[in-house]
Amino acid sequence: MRPGGLDHDAAGAVAAVADAPRDPDAARLQALLDERGPTRRPDRLTDVLWISRFRVHHRIADHYRHGRALLAGDAAHGHSPAGGQGMNLGICDAVALGVTLGDVLAGHPDTVLDDYAATRRPPAEEVVGFAARLTRLATLPPAGRPLRDLALRAVSGVPPDRAAARRPPAARDDPPAGGRAVSRSAVVRW
Ligand SMILES: Cc1cc2nc3c(=O)[nH]c(=O)nc-3n(C[C@H](O)[C@H](O)[C@H](O)COP(=O)(O)OP(=O)(O)OC[C@H]3O[C@@H](n4cnc5c(N)ncnc54)[C@H](O)[C@@H]3O)c2cc1C
Repeated sequence: MRPGGLDHDAAGAVAAVADAPRDPDAARLQALLDERGPTRRPDRLTDVLWISRFRVHHRIADHYRHGRALLAGDAAHGHSPAGGQGMNLGICDAVALGVTLGDVLAGHPDTVLDDYAATRRPPAEEVVGFAARLTRLATLPPAGRPLRDLALRAVSGVPPDRAAARRPPAARDDPPAGGRAVSRSAVVRW
């Protein structure tokens, strides 16, 4: 994408549509940009690096562990890309699972694997709930959009709290007995 409404040469875009073709192409994406993008400085698409269609689900596995089978990442939770936290959540799962498997190998009882499952589900609920709310906001019916856009404009005028970003994360969640936990706050911040 070349600079038009955007200041960068490369940009990513996600658009919700009712009739996504199996193989979306640049012309389809440009048509969406023309329809929904900025009007004063329209974006012009020159190259497409990657394009795909996907269906939005909001789901979390009831259990992350069944005996020797353990779930992490998108296998455990799926949600819309709104908020951009899916991969980060999965990486935190993988780190927590790696640490817990290491504990089992070091002699801890394998019940710490249940703790892994119990510890990782709450942050997934948080992220999936947030993504679902953002998705609802992004796909409001036309009647609700002016109010939404007004609210977003007001919120985007609030300066970022850079001091808060520099503060160390809040107290970490208590690690489960016999295991180490990845902080829930870390998941939200990553
Ligand atoms: C449009 C879009 C934008 C996104 N943007 C962001 C973002 O900005 N930030 C963010 O954090 N996340 C983002 N995500 C989410 C992120 O891409 C996923 O959460 C992440 O890729 C999940 O990784 P994963 O390894 O758990 O699963 P996957 O990436 O799905 O990997 C699973 C792998 O297992 C393989 N596999 C499946 N079945 C088998 C089998 N039976 N045998 C062997 N291999 C198998 C698959 O081929 C695949 O390679 C986005 C997602 C989408 C769709």
